[in-house]
Amino acid sequence: MTIMKNPTPRIGFVSLGCPKALVDSERILTRLRAEGYAIAPSYEGADLVVVNTCGFIEEAVAESLEAIDEALAENGKVIVTGCLGARPETITSRFPSVLEVTGARNYEDVVAAVHRHLPPLHDPLLNLIPPAGIKLTPRHYAYLKIAEGCNHRCTFCIIPSLRGPLVSRPIREVLTEAERLVQAGVKEILVIAQDTSAYGADLRHREEAWRGIKWRTHVTDLARGLGGLDVWVRLHYVYPYPHVDELIPLMAEGKILPYLDVPLQHASARILKLMRRPANADNTLARIQSWRAICPDLVLRSTFIVGFPGETEAEFEELLEFLRDAQLDRVGAFKYSPIEGAAANALPDSVPEEVKEERLARFMEVQAAISAAKLKRRIGRIETVLVDKINEGQVIARSYGDAPEIDGVVYLEEARGICPGQFVNVKITGADTHDLWAVPVD
Ligand code: SF4
Repeated sequence: MTIMKNPTPRIGFVSLGCPKALVDSERILTRLRAEGYAIAPSYEGADLVVVNTCGFIEEAVAESLEAIDEALAENGKVIVTGCLGARPETITSRFPSVLEVTGARNYEDVVAAVHRHLPPLHDPLLNLIPPAGIKLTPRHYAYLKIAEGCNHRCTFCIIPSLRGPLVSRPIREVLTEAERLVQAGVKEILVIAQDTSAYGADLRHREEAWRGIKWRTHVTDLARGLGGLDVWVRLHYVYPYPHVDELIPLMAEGKILPYLDVPLQHASARILKLMRRPANADNTLARIQSWRAICPDLVLRSTFIVGFPGETEAEFEELLEFLRDAQLDRVGAFKYSPIEGAAANALPDSVPEEVKEERLARFMEVQAAISAAKLKRRIGRIETVLVDKINEGQVIARSYGDAPEIDGVVYLEEARGICPGQFVNVKITGADTHDLWAVPVD
């Protein structure tokens, strides 16, 4: 007699959107893997496909709809989750054959939907997952999501309506996860949330004990705790609240990387008010200067929106002036694009598309010169880089000033016997607008 063993149920997964969505995907995959599901690398090999969507801007919505369409055509059994899942009618009206739609953050719901359409096998031997969970990033770096949702109401953004108000993870849980990641070989932790500096506000910054010490659920204590793990710690999406000043000495002491990703969005007080961003550009400039006085190596990254409704030429010029004064190291810029449900859609005086294009090009030109000059100043310095990959013999690494995917890289020359995930001391030998070149030193 032959005993037929049930084949392992296989899930295909399409992960779209920002690092926060990527962390959601990792959580869902970790859970499914723990329950004995296999992860299929292709549509054909999957019994069912989960599409984790993004709804941040119109292009992201279009990309998500395209991904659902493709998954349906290639596989046919599709569950949709993520930001776009908060508006199920957008999906079901267009794709009635989608099996189920669940919203962002609802890990339980998406896992339950998978159970309904593809029940798990009850085989304890399959419940083998790495202690750090399933990672979609290379093994040597990992995103650490510390909170979900946001209490701001920026008029161009619908994240709070999709993901709800700020909900922070307890600090003990976050530090334990970080420690586990480090034990699993992670060399760089990238801290993310919609608004990292608001971490713990919803929990009234309550204290918790971890490794015999009391820690407040607060970004400063978190940075201190992570700084003790002896890996690179990089902070993203740090809204410039006053207490962010407390992070700079930790950077100067080398506890966390001297890198700060501060989304500023604009420099004109009137536009910032229309965006409902509680910042003031003069104040921001003074803060940046004081941060640099404490930590001269600080690399600042920011994002801006050009062509916001009502933005005049003079206000745009003010933004360019701010860029020249602030001398930010890394900058991303987007043309304003209206997104369904955003309050900014109701604002008058939308900027014509060709003016947005022209402003974006001018903005990028000013910033490109600043970025190039700042990188050039690093030539001759000895720095430590983290090797990401080796591409046809070319060793590609990152310095403390380069976050994965969004910033530049460091190309290593004359480098042999080097592996991804390795720290290497190098001398910077060349630079262009985005990237650096370097040779290893002893
Ligand atoms: S801070 Fe503003 S832009 Fe960022 S998630 Fe919150 S509402 Fe959106």
